[in-house]
Amino acid sequence: MKLQRKIISRALRILMESSGKETVVSLMILIVRSFLPLAGVLLIRYYVERITGDTAGGELPMFSAVTGLIAAMAVTLLADDWLASAGYFFARKQSVRVEGHISSLIHGHASGIGLKFFEDPAFHDGLSRAARDISWRPAAMVTDMILLVRGVISFIAMGYILRMFGIIPLVVLVLLFLPLLWIRYRNSSRIYMARKSVTELTRQAAYFSWLLTGEKPAREVKLFGLGEYFENLFRRNFEDSKAPELEAVRKNTLLESASSLVKVAAFAGILVYATGAFMRSEITAGELAMYLVAFRQAMVYLRDAVSGYSGLAENRLFLQDLFGFLDLKGDMPDGEKGPDPGTFSEITVEKMTFTYPGASGPALRDISLKITRGEKVAVVGPNGSGKTTLVKLLCRLYDPDGGRILLNGRNITSIDPDAYRKLFSVVFQNFMLYYLSAGDNIRLGSAEGKEETERVISAASMTGLHELLSSLPEGYDTLLGHHTEGGRELSWGEWQKIAIARALYREAPVLILDEPSSSLDADSEYEIFSDLGMITAGRTCIFISHRLSNVKDADRIIVLHKGCIAESGTHDELMAAKGSYYSMFTRQKSMYR
Ligand code: ADP
Repeated sequence: MKLQRKIISRALRILMESSGKETVVSLMILIVRSFLPLAGVLLIRYYVERITGDTAGGELPMFSAVTGLIAAMAVTLLADDWLASAGYFFARKQSVRVEGHISSLIHGHASGIGLKFFEDPAFHDGLSRAARDISWRPAAMVTDMILLVRGVISFIAMGYILRMFGIIPLVVLVLLFLPLLWIRYRNSSRIYMARKSVTELTRQAAYFSWLLTGEKPAREVKLFGLGEYFENLFRRNFEDSKAPELEAVRKNTLLESASSLVKVAAFAGILVYATGAFMRSEITAGELAMYLVAFRQAMVYLRDAVSGYSGLAENRLFLQDLFGFLDLKGDMPDGEKGPDPGTFSEITVEKMTFTYPGASGPALRDISLKITRGEKVAVVGPNGSGKTTLVKLLCRLYDPDGGRILLNGRNITSIDPDAYRKLFSVVFQNFMLYYLSAGDNIRLGSAEGKEETERVISAASMTGLHELLSSLPEGYDTLLGHHTEGGRELSWGEWQKIAIARALYREAPVLILDEPSSSLDADSEYEIFSDLGMITAGRTCIFISHRLSNVKDADRIIVLHKGCIAESGTHDELMAAKGSYYSMFTRQKSMYR
């Protein structure tokens, strides 16, 4: 109960924060609209009484009275229609605002929490449920709320009329709806739970659909003729993901059909009861008409109220899921602001060990090293030896399980992660392609900095891109990628140069290049590595490369093997030691000879 109250108050807060004005206007329209049926029913009574001559009073002549009543009924109908249209407009506006607001909450939270969550399927299930429903849930919530509020107010208004004929029909009516309320309430959670139970299958189906329709997989899917294979996988996952929901709907339909029988029987009973009263002259024809219309209307409003309530009950489950996702605590405490990047002097790693969540063994073991300002350090080693993991930990995308990392002698866990990451500029192996302009692709390196065209050009020049980018139809403003009309696609190597330029633009004191030449042609690779001194001037540089001839000039070379530091030293020292570096280097030398 306490939890429910918390969910409701949090939902109301979101509603008021996102669309306070629209909510108030919608509510006012709703209240006025809720009383219109009462006016309509009373007018029907006066109208029938007037034309059947049952009415005792009334000074107006028959014609004027009847015309007046018809006009009043027309105005009531028109007001109801106009208010319904205005209400629809405000409700749509309200749901769009709520959708935008909740989307921003989801995006803000997703970009704020640690990388660890993104590798957890349960996190993706929660995220996908929140993101999947966000396009229609807010609208449904608003509609359900309207149905409930209007249903209750209008039912109370109708109840006021029905009460004139005794309490029994009113009680019968309410009792009739209790089973329906119970059925709907149970059904709403049944459908939600059915959908929730297949979140993973739904995600899988969406993944296979993307393989069949996305730009990136298109080449391989066509070349290997994988269309039919993935289509079968998609169909299987899709059908399995829909089956529980269909079964829940089938059960719900059966139960509701049974409850309809009871409802219709009750209506027939009331009809007999009212007709008897009329025959015994206990009520007038006008009252009979008003009574039957009021009873029918009361049923409609009660049904609306029940639908609204059960809809809200289902949405409550969605909100519970959404808030659960938004309440996921980041795995890194905020800490204090970091030191000014200008004061960076050294990073020390002490006995660091790290195991990926769910992995069987550590990816890094007992790593100790020190990197001082201005040093050029190369990290080499076979695939899977932990090079990229080391970089990720240095940038604090994860925290180590054992040991620690110190920045200028201070444990980095006491520093705000975002402030700490400002020290680094990284080109990851699987860097991002942003379908934005060429200039923006570089400028993103320092998103908060002001636009500095000269710096963009200088970063592009250092990676040998300036000539290409300035020759594009709109120069640096040309959109890159096939994503938009007129977008210019680049080769993978050119994209990699863009990623390097982006990292250079950042001007962080530590530059990390993870396999920066993997997609570059021999000339570009040579240029970048021979210019590395100039490119990285004044910065500390950590670079990973498979091509050992590229790392020869590093101040220090760290050789990783199965997550441990196997050797460390300058090229000459490691060659003289005749260890694993020596073997790798001589093997590569003979290959390139
Ligand atoms: P390298 O960069 O030297 O090729 P990595 O640092 O990428 O190696 O990987 C080191 C080890 O950690 C490998 O065994 C790899 O399979 C594992 N690994 C890498 N990334 C993840 C991850 N996100 N989750 C679980 N294991 C991972």
